[in-house]
Amino acid sequence: MVSLLPIAALDERGGSATAVAADPVIERSTPAPAPQPPRRARPPDAAERVVWRESIASGTPNNGRLVRGVQLPPTGEGFYGYDPAIQRPPGGPDRQWGTAKLVKEITLLGRWWARTHPAAPRLGIGDLSRPTGGFFGGPGVGHLSHQNGLDVDIRLVRSDGTEDGAHAGNYDAERTQDVIDRLLARGANLILIGPNLDLHGPSRVVLRWPNHDDHLHARFPDPDGPAN
Ligand SMILES: [Zn+2]
Repeated sequence: MVSLLPIAALDERGGSATAVAADPVIERSTPAPAPQPPRRARPPDAAERVVWRESIASGTPNNGRLVRGVQLPPTGEGFYGYDPAIQRPPGGPDRQWGTAKLVKEITLLGRWWARTHPAAPRLGIGDLSRPTGGFFGGPGVGHLSHQNGLDVDIRLVRSDGTEDGAHAGNYDAERTQDVIDRLLARGANLILIGPNLDLHGPSRVVLRWPNHDDHLHARFPDPDGPAN
């Protein structure tokens, strides 16, 4: 009886396409691959949703303003924004503006985090600057700096894997230190850490500061210098 056979069942040596009967006692030499869990769709890349502009960090972080600021998206790969005044997402429409340079660094930080710590909670991004910078008063939480789009607050990474408020009693020192090391490698020139945190870095950049036991404060240098 002639029946249709798959190509793989044809005898390679002969040109006559002889059919080779399958032997039911021979087991497959390689086990079938285990079923893979469905792939999670990649979240939209935050950097792709940013309206980029040529920003200027005018003045200084403690007395300045932000020209042509760029808004950080509410979420992106590896990060989410939150409002420190209520300790919940999202970050608020008038609290997460920065220079293009700063927003770029945050989106890159999130992407790096998602790829190097895939099982960890996303990084919580708090206040940057007001849409046009200037004094960052309340409600709830204000800042003396954060005035010209170069400063960002980042939640400590929690040890229980949740994306909630962190403090000295529930944070993961090792993972939070990874964030500090990455910020340093990316050129942050100021990182403030709370007095009760087991974190470290070069003393010219990483400073202990009151009221920073639940977040890091990171600053990047003004990309076009401090003169404007
Ligand atoms: Zn801050």
